[in-house]
Amino acid sequence: MNAVNKVLVVGGGIGGLCAAIALRRKGIEVDLVELKAEWTVYGVGIIQQSNVVREMAKLGVLDGYLDAAFAFEDVSINTTDGQQLVRIPGQRLAGPEYPANVGISRLALHKVLSETTVALGASVRLGLSVETLTEDAQGVDVLFTDGSRGRYDLVVGADGLFSKVRGLLFGDKYQPRFTGQSVWRYNFPRPAAIDHLANYQGPAGNAGLVPLADDLMYMFVTSHEPGNPWMATDTLADEMRKRLSGFGGLIGELREQITDGSQVVYKPLEVVFVSEPWYRGRVLLIGDAAHATTPHLGQGAGMAIEDAVVLGEELTAGGSVEQQLERFMARRYERCKYISESSVLAGDKEIAHDHSFDRIGLVVQMLKLTAEPV
Ligand SMILES: Cc1cc2nc3c(=O)[nH]c(=O)nc-3n(C[C@H](O)[C@H](O)[C@H](O)COP(=O)(O)OP(=O)(O)OC[C@H]3O[C@@H](n4cnc5c(N)ncnc54)[C@H](O)[C@@H]3O)c2cc1C
Repeated sequence: MNAVNKVLVVGGGIGGLCAAIALRRKGIEVDLVELKAEWTVYGVGIIQQSNVVREMAKLGVLDGYLDAAFAFEDVSINTTDGQQLVRIPGQRLAGPEYPANVGISRLALHKVLSETTVALGASVRLGLSVETLTEDAQGVDVLFTDGSRGRYDLVVGADGLFSKVRGLLFGDKYQPRFTGQSVWRYNFPRPAAIDHLANYQGPAGNAGLVPLADDLMYMFVTSHEPGNPWMATDTLADEMRKRLSGFGGLIGELREQITDGSQVVYKPLEVVFVSEPWYRGRVLLIGDAAHATTPHLGQGAGMAIEDAVVLGEELTAGGSVEQQLERFMARRYERCKYISESSVLAGDKEIAHDHSFDRIGLVVQMLKLTAEPV
C-alpha cells in the first residue's frame, strides 16, 4: 500500500504537467489546478538537452514530443563575428535511435504535455488556485479559491517563480531577485546552417540561434539592464537591435531584420532558490517554485522535468511520506543547486565583462553532470 495515493498539483506549467504525467503513470490519482483561465503559454521556444530527452522517454511521451520538436545533435560556441570556437557533440542519452537534443516551441510542448495529462486521467481545473492548506497526520485539507475543498495525501506546488504554495510554506523568506540581466528573443525562418544550437559570445551579452522546426528558429540575446527598466512595446525592436550592435556574421545580418516590436519577447531574469528542504510535512515544491534560475545553461525546465520524474519514482518506492520526500531531496538538491548557481554565475560574468571566464568549460562540465543518472 502506497503512502501517497492522491495528489494535488498546483500549477499547469512544464513542471506541473510532467509531475501529473509521472504520477498518473504510477497509478496515483491526480488533481491539477492552474491559475490561468485560458491554458495558454507565451510564444517562442525552448532548448531541451539530452538529459531532458531521456526524461521524456521515461514519461512515455517521447514520440509525440519529437514529432513536435526539431531534433539536433551538437552545440557550437562561436565568436562575436561567428567564427566557431568549439562544436560539442551531443549525447544520445535516450538511446541510439533518439536524438541528443531538441528545440521545441513552448506552445507545441504545452500541447503534448497537457493532452497527455488529460488522456492519462488527471482531473484538470482551470482559473483557480489554492487558498489555504491545513495539514494533519494523515493528509492535507485544501480550500480552493472558488470555495471548493479537497483532501490529499500530498500537495505539489509547481506554481513557478512567484509560487503561492512557497509563500504558504515559507512566508516571505524566499523572494524572486532580478539578476541585472534580461533576455530578448525573436523568431526567424531557419537557414540550413542552423541545424544545431549555435551560441555567440558577445561584447556584453551572449546571443544564440535555436532551431525549432524545418522553417523556424529563434534568436536570443542577453543584456545588462541596470534598474530593470520598463520597455514599451513600440521600442522593443530598436532596443533589441541596439543590444546586438557588436555582433557580426549571421547574428549581425539577422539583426537588421528585427523590425516588429510586437514580435520581440523581452524578459527580465529573476531567480529564487529555496536553500533548505523543499517540503514541509505533506507539501512539496518542485520546478521554478523551488529553484528558478537564468537560462544561461538552458536547464531550468530540464530540472523541473527531472523533479517530476524523480517524484513519481520515489512516491512508489515504499516508506512513509517523510522518507519518500527525503529521498526525493537527496536526489534533487545538489543537482538543482549546481544548475541554479552556475547559470547565475555565467550571467554575472557577462555583467562584469569578465572575458577570462571559461564558459566553454562550464558548458562541458554541465553536460557531463546532467548526463549522469538523476
Ligand atoms: C527567458 C527564459 C528562457 C528560458 N529558456 C529555457 C530553455 O531553453 N531550456 C530550459 O530548460 N529552461 C528554460 N527556461 C526556464 C524554464 O522556462 C522554467 O524553468 C520552466 O518553465 C519552469 O517550469 P515550472 O512548471 O516550474 O514553472 P512555470 O513554467 O512558471 O509554470 C508555473 C505554472 O503555474 C501557474 N501558476 C502560477 N501561480 C499559480 C497559482 N497560485 N495557482 C495555480 N497555478 C499557478 C502558472 O500560470 C504556470 O502555468 C527559460 C526561462 C526564461 C525566463
